[in-house]
Parts: sequence; structure tokens; C-alpha cells
Amino acid sequence: MPPPPIPSAAIEAAKKKRASLTPVTAPPQPPTEEEGGGCVHGTEMQGKAEGCEGCPSKNQCASSAPNPQLIQKTRLDISTSTSSITRKLLILSGKGGVGKSTICSQLAFTLSSRGYSVGVMDVDICGPSAPRMFGCVGRTIHHSSSGWSPVYVNENLSLISTAFMLGEADAAVVWRGPRKNGLIKQFLTEVDWGELDFLLVDTPPGTSDEHISTVQYLRSGAIEDGGSNGGIDGAVVVTTPEEVSMSDVRKELNFCKKVKVPVLGVVENMATFKTSTEKCKFTKEGKDITEDVRKLLSEKFGEDVLLESDIFAPSGEGVQGMCDQFKVDHLGKVNLDPNLLKCCEEGKGYTESCKGKKESEEGVNALNKIVDELVRKLPVG
Ligand code: ADP
Repeated sequence: MPPPPIPSAAIEAAKKKRASLTPVTAPPQPPTEEEGGGCVHGTEMQGKAEGCEGCPSKNQCASSAPNPQLIQKTRLDISTSTSSITRKLLILSGKGGVGKSTICSQLAFTLSSRGYSVGVMDVDICGPSAPRMFGCVGRTIHHSSSGWSPVYVNENLSLISTAFMLGEADAAVVWRGPRKNGLIKQFLTEVDWGELDFLLVDTPPGTSDEHISTVQYLRSGAIEDGGSNGGIDGAVVVTTPEEVSMSDVRKELNFCKKVKVPVLGVVENMATFKTSTEKCKFTKEGKDITEDVRKLLSEKFGEDVLLESDIFAPSGEGVQGMCDQFKVDHLGKVNLDPNLLKCCEEGKGYTESCKGKKESEEGVNALNKIVDELVRKLPVG
């Protein structure tokens, strides 16, 4: 028997949807500097942003009041685009390589695995690593009638990143401040985020134009909303335990104080290294003695012997001492774990993929507890 005919209304609806989703062969582009599209003129930042340095209009902009209508329009656009986002969090670090993007991606994966709808906005414009960490390398942004559609990692986890807008995966991004500000504004005005419980903003290390722009733009959307959508709910600050990282994190904590962004807490990443001795190599005077050591260990202790080492020796009172000094919460310690690195390389969620793995037990528990704490601090109703 032939299949029943598909109702014409359904065909029309499908056609309409397809027409509104234009795959972007040439991804949407941020405005070029020549077009002036990235200029912060007309916002509270005009003449003051880092990228205004060297611009011939800097002094004129700095001394004149920004156009109130332009400010109002930006506020309205941001407010419209972000009004269905319940919680907005910044993920910050003082320096690069401490695991900020790792923690951001894993918080997002864990929240989404608990059923929350999560969006990630990667504004680490010059070093976007989010597509790899979410397993989305090579995917593209789509245009729809309601704006840019972010890349969906799964049905309740979406991602937008500069990397999706670059022609070549390894292309270097060398943009001046105004262009970066312009792109952040586009991420907040043109992306159709839909209903989100959490938006996590993965920022570059340090305190630069990107941070100030993100804070100001999110705030300006909230002002237009009468503050009802909250602007920014807080920041999660990531550090490793050694002084080189912590001294930069203190600047980050002072930045939060200055711009009045509440610090939800500090994550101590790579606190301890733990791995199964089955994955270790042992040497003596250059000679590989792995087999012998493993044999001895298993004879004496059986399976599941773990090796533990503090790679980054904590300095002074450590991260807890710094948190006490700044009166912020220490959210937890995440071990340096090769399984976590593997998850990041493969774009997988650690708390789900490594549940039950002996050597990852502490790391998985720590991340779950950090998420418990964030959800407790920021209920989504
Ligand atoms: P940042 O965003 O601070 O520059 P990343 O998150 O990109 O740093 O991390 C740098 C590298 O370290 C990545 O390869 C990441 O997978 C790895 N990494 C970060 N944290 C851990 C951890 N706790 N255990 C194992 N590898 C980690």
C-alpha cells in the first residue's frame, strides 16, 4: 500500500523553515575596521577603549558625549537578544594556559548533562579553543530569519565562537580593540540564543577590552530591561596554584570588584596530578624499568595503584589563602588529569565520560560539586 500523502501544510511549513535556514558557505563576517563597523563610537566606551589608542578621533570621542539614540538602540538590541537567558556568567583567568576554557567547556557539558539549556559565547577572539573542546571543529554558523544560529553541540548546548567565522582553522586573528568590541556586540545582538538557563562567556586571559566590552554590553542590555534580566550574575575565576598564576588572578579579582561583577568563586585547576601507574613510565639512569616496577607494585598492592604529585607547588597560603584575603569562595580543586585532557581533545564531557574511572574520581566529583554550588548560588527556577 502506498504511504499516505503528506499534508500540503506540513510541506509548506518545512519549505519555509528550510528557506529561513541558509547554510553559510561564507560565514557571517564581523565588520572590517575600514568599514568602521567595529568602532565603539556611540557607546559609553567611545574614546576610552584600548583599541581607540592611535585613532585620530580618540580625543574628540573621549571629550564628547556619546549619541544617546545609538546607546538606546544598542541597549534595546542586546536586551531583545538576551532577555530569554536566565543566568549569565563570565569565566575568567589571570593568565593563559591555566585551564579557563577547559573549565568553561566542562561546566557547560555538566550543566547540559543535567538538563539545563546552556550557551557558550567564546570571546577569546585571538585564541578560540572552544570548537575543539566541544567537538565542533569545521562546523559553521547558520543564518535564520531570527538571526545567527549558534552551533549546537547537543540539543541543549550551543556555542558561538570566532573560530566559526575564520576561513582556515589555523588562521591567526590579529584584530584591534574596536573590531573585537564590534564582534562581541554582534554576538550579543545578532545571535539567536533562544531560551537559555545559562550563558557562559569564555573570556581571554587578563583584563582587556573584551572583558570591559562584555561587561558593559551585557549591563547595557539589562539597563534597557529595567535590570530585570540581571546583566551579569557573576564570574568564575580559574587559577593554578602557583604564584605566577595567582598574582595575575588577584588583578582579575580586583577588576571584578572595580566593575562590580560578583565573584561566584575560584576554581583551583591542576591542583594535583593523579594517574594510574599503568599509564606511567619508570626509568633509572636512563634505563626503562617500567615492567619491573609495575610487577613489584602489582605483587604488593594489586591493581589500581595511583601516582600522585603536586606539579605546581602551591605558594604561601595557596589558593585558599587568596580566596580568604579577597573574601571569595574557593569552589574546588580539579586535578591535572590526562583523562580530562583527552576529553577536551575529543570534545567530550568529563563528568559523564569519566564517571566510574578510578583515577578520575576526584576530578569528576570536584567538577560535579562546583556545578552543584553554582546551581545553588544561581537557581534558574
Ligand atoms: P586557558 O583557556 O586558560 O588558556 P586551556 O583550557 O586551553 O587554558 O588549557 C590548556 C591545556 O591544558 C589544554 O590542552 C587543556 O586540555 C589542558 N588542561 C587544562 N586543565 C587540565 C586538567 N585539569 N587536567 C588535564 N589537562 C588540563
